[in-house]
Amino acid sequence: MPRGRVLVTGGSGFIAGHCILQLLEAGYEVRTTLRSLTGEANVRSVLGEAGMVNGQNLAFTEADLTGDAGWAEATAGIEYVLHVASPVQPGHVADENDLIVPAREGTLRVLRAARDAGVTRVVLTSAFHAVSWGHPHDDHVFTERDWTIVDGSGVDAYGKSKTLAERSAWEFVQTSGGRMELTTMLPVAVMGPVLGHKLSGSNHLIQRILNGDMPGFPHLFFPIVDVRDVAKAHILAMTNPAVGGERFLLSNGPAVEMKDIGALIRSRFGPAAKKVPRRTLPDVVVRVGALFNPELKSLVPELGYRKNSSNEKARKILGWAPRDPEDAIVAAAESMIDKGLAGA
Ligand code: NAP
Repeated sequence: MPRGRVLVTGGSGFIAGHCILQLLEAGYEVRTTLRSLTGEANVRSVLGEAGMVNGQNLAFTEADLTGDAGWAEATAGIEYVLHVASPVQPGHVADENDLIVPAREGTLRVLRAARDAGVTRVVLTSAFHAVSWGHPHDDHVFTERDWTIVDGSGVDAYGKSKTLAERSAWEFVQTSGGRMELTTMLPVAVMGPVLGHKLSGSNHLIQRILNGDMPGFPHLFFPIVDVRDVAKAHILAMTNPAVGGERFLLSNGPAVEMKDIGALIRSRFGPAAKKVPRRTLPDVVVRVGALFNPELKSLVPELGYRKNSSNEKARKILGWAPRDPEDAIVAAAESMIDKGLAGA
């Protein structure tokens, strides 16, 4: 007997895929949305290749965050929703509304439909981008109490989209959510085993390092968490009776310097890591490059800044025990090399 019915939005995504794999393995019945059902066969095959069990308990339905169609059908008969789908594009974008509108309006669409369908709890995948941007660069340790200051310096369109979407979600459940509960997840950079041949957000960094796409390492630090632990946290947050109304920061340990990510990959992957740069780039070189390159421009304020974050709340209340960031880096690189996505 399946344990309960869960809707996961955006089944073609990296984090959503890992959530679906774990939910099926734990015995849940899973429904997932795609923008178009023409993608179903591919998602099934990608998840199958990743070791999916109980695939007969997975169903697909069509819905887009930018329209109302399909959300009532997607949420009908559902107990829990993991709202994971959102456009992921950190850095420079031509029009910030391409991210903000689907993130915020889409979240409200999912919440409205979930409330109307009598869903018990929605777990929303927000992000560390909704926590730690726009603040002074000091040694503050970020927690769930912090919020990104959307008009602060260095906040990109993605950071705005995540912050505005999460704020709107809290406002919605407080004013119009009825009995439905909301819990939000705030992962730092998510890395780990690639599903299929599509890379999401932070895994691109590992691909660029493996492919030697940069002449050297800028003086940048990344807080990293493993995708398998992020999926696990979503499932813990879904059923723990004590966590309705809570935010959880999903991080693990100090941010890792980019050159150390490179050194780790070089030490583990021999010839496949031959293009990994060995040099670090002086800050002045990045600053000059930024005068001509909008992508580099967004990195300049982050040079030399190691953000601190605490996962104490997730450990204590969810009983979450994440693996080391090194495992996420190695698993990401290994899966890319095995699939011929990088390092050739
Ligand atoms: P991903 O692989 O790019 O997945 C994003 C998903 O959102 C895809 O399924 C995509 O569908 C869907 N989507 C985008 N726009 C949509 C729209 N208008 N309507 C319906 N679906 C739409 O990214 P991910 O890394 O798994 O990210 C998933 C969630 O985690 C996002 O909310 C992201 O902000 C959050 N997060 C990610 C990271 C990270 O480092 N990766 C860190 C913190 C938080 P298509 O396949 O059709 O494009």
